[in-house]
Amino acid sequence: MPDSEPENGGSPDRALGMHRNITRRDFLNGMAIGAGGALASPWLAGLLAAQTPAPAPQDRPGYYPPTLTGMRGSHPGSFEVGHALRDGTFWEKAGKPVETGEEYDLVVVGGGMSGLASAYFYRKQAGPSSRILILDNHDDFGGHAKRNEFHLDGRMLLTNGGTVAIESPFPYSKQARGLLTELGIDPPALEKKYAGDSAFRGLGFGYFFDKETFGIERLVTNAPGGFYSRQGTSGEWAEFLARTPFPTQAQRDIARIQEARIDYMEGVPQEQKKARLSKMSYKDFLLHVVKAHPDVIPFYQTRTHGLYGIGIDAVPALDCWAIHFPGFQGMGLDRVPSKGLTFTALGEVTPQPEYHFHFPDGNASIARMLVRSLIPGSAPGNTAEDVVTAKVDYSRLDQADSPIRMRLNSTVVLARHLGDAASAKQVEIVYGRDQKAYTVRGKATVLACWNMVIPYLCPGLPAEQKEALHYGVKVPLVYTVVGLRNWTAFHKLGVRSVSCPGLYHSSMNLDQGPSMGEYKSTRSPDDPILVHMLRTPCQPGLSAREQQRAGHYELLATPFETFERNIRDQFARVLSEGGFDPARDVEAITVNRWPHGYAYEYNPLWDPDWPEGKRPCDIARRRFGRITIANSDAAAAAYTDQAIDQGYRAVQELLSS
Ligand SMILES: Cc1cc2nc3c(=O)[nH]c(=O)nc-3n(C[C@H](O)[C@H](O)[C@H](O)COP(=O)(O)OP(=O)(O)OC[C@H]3O[C@@H](n4cnc5c(N)ncnc54)[C@H](O)[C@@H]3O)c2cc1C
Repeated sequence: MPDSEPENGGSPDRALGMHRNITRRDFLNGMAIGAGGALASPWLAGLLAAQTPAPAPQDRPGYYPPTLTGMRGSHPGSFEVGHALRDGTFWEKAGKPVETGEEYDLVVVGGGMSGLASAYFYRKQAGPSSRILILDNHDDFGGHAKRNEFHLDGRMLLTNGGTVAIESPFPYSKQARGLLTELGIDPPALEKKYAGDSAFRGLGFGYFFDKETFGIERLVTNAPGGFYSRQGTSGEWAEFLARTPFPTQAQRDIARIQEARIDYMEGVPQEQKKARLSKMSYKDFLLHVVKAHPDVIPFYQTRTHGLYGIGIDAVPALDCWAIHFPGFQGMGLDRVPSKGLTFTALGEVTPQPEYHFHFPDGNASIARMLVRSLIPGSAPGNTAEDVVTAKVDYSRLDQADSPIRMRLNSTVVLARHLGDAASAKQVEIVYGRDQKAYTVRGKATVLACWNMVIPYLCPGLPAEQKEALHYGVKVPLVYTVVGLRNWTAFHKLGVRSVSCPGLYHSSMNLDQGPSMGEYKSTRSPDDPILVHMLRTPCQPGLSAREQQRAGHYELLATPFETFERNIRDQFARVLSEGGFDPARDVEAITVNRWPHGYAYEYNPLWDPDWPEGKRPCDIARRRFGRITIANSDAAAAAYTDQAIDQGYRAVQELLSS
């Protein structure tokens, strides 16, 4: 453990600990926006200069991306080639690709959940000798389901860099549930076994009111219920609100929203109520239907950030009702689906998920189990418990003698039929890696990458399909993980989660996955811990798609240093009364940056009510000869089971044609 800072009397940066030597990997960050940035990319520079290919990074000794800190998610080096392709500069510079001579039964583009599931289903149906190559542009597999592995004070601490849990508003399909079962994952049994394993009993929820947004700076603890629930019996809210900086009218209105049973659309038939709520934002519902004072809006504004990546200005009120936001309790809305209404994927009816289980590293464990199954010898063990601490041997992922291979740091730039799409027997795939372009061939390919990338990879696609592939704008968001030397400040203040509606990250939560197998999560406040923080780069006032597009650019343009300064400042402001010192207590920072995060889900505030089968995602995922399309974008639903289901469908389309 490093020495504590002697004094904090220097510059604010010094007081925050900006000089502390934690790992930073932001040297390339922020440079790849637009053509100029793309041309400046070291990949393209290297492409021109390289005479001999470097050894593949994943084969080098010590290669283990889960332990990398700094800028992760869409990390530097993962997106420059894709952006150069988008900007039309890639082929100007790329030269003639190297023919590897490699031929496969199937080439999968994208090593996320959908791509891994595609490989799994293909092998299962076509046979164990099927030769499959999986290509992914990141330095690690799993797509959004990434593992963050910290080693602090001799302890391994795990968390999810992206995908958190096995849960979905939809029941898992036979195929998705079957895949989990075959891997050895029984979510209800695991949930039962590990539920209640919390070191945070007695710690509650708090709100941090910042002076820029609320006029007064204050942490208010012991908030009634959680952030999403409208729990709290009459009186609890008034007591809590009296401790906040809200003026009297706003306090009354928040208490009414949280507790009163009022039908704000009295006399309106059920179906019409729902129809109206589906076409207004939750913000408009609060302001114009509930008639709350505008001062209440900042209290609720960021509450949808985690699930939707946008604020309440852009999420339909009906969705907020479906996920149990307050204000609707007296409106007599039933949870029976209504015909003819369009909802986002969460839909009108959100049944309680059958189960909600998360591994210590989130769904990265599912990705790791898939890889262990696809490439025997890549990781030891064979249970859902032993995978948690199993170390993947990345040098085993791309061995010539293995029927299934996975090549990381490889951005696919072309997938084209050799001959006419209707009759071709082979697809040629070109990818960039190690500063060169390479060619492989497959009898078929599944594009389990992102929809908006596909038109650039497959210029031959019909125009209508390209347009549909471009429609959705993936949701940008950031999961920041901060390693702390201990959590005594949280303990002293009595909080495990703090909502910070006005700060850079809108929430901060002590992170504790279950102790599974050999993995032991933190127990004592004196132990090191990970804190999960959420940032969504929203721009209220714009449509959801416009906010998402702007957020994408903002994330790529923001250097790690800006994140770090804001993180340290936020910890100092929120936890100082608990004795927290950012210059002393912050040990490591990982910014999991997802400019292309959640799949775009249709939003009735802006999107048309498409007829069944005519949504952009339905058109976008059409088979194109020997090329099929998977990925959660193909379902317009950002859930693991949807990614798996789309992989299954894409494989069926190939094997049945
Ligand atoms: C922060 C976050 C949290 C989430 N939490 C949950 C949760 O708790 N539960 C849940 O069910 N779902 C969750 N989701 C959604 C879930 O993660 C996704 O629906 C699912 O994992 C998507 O898998 P995928 O394979 O379809 O896409 P991805 O995971 O995006 O994988 C696609 C891969 O293809 C790669 N690729 C793209 N273009 C190319 C190219 N040209 N060449 C090579 N590779 C390429 C991408 O870089 C990526 O690695 C979350 C998503 C995010 C972003």
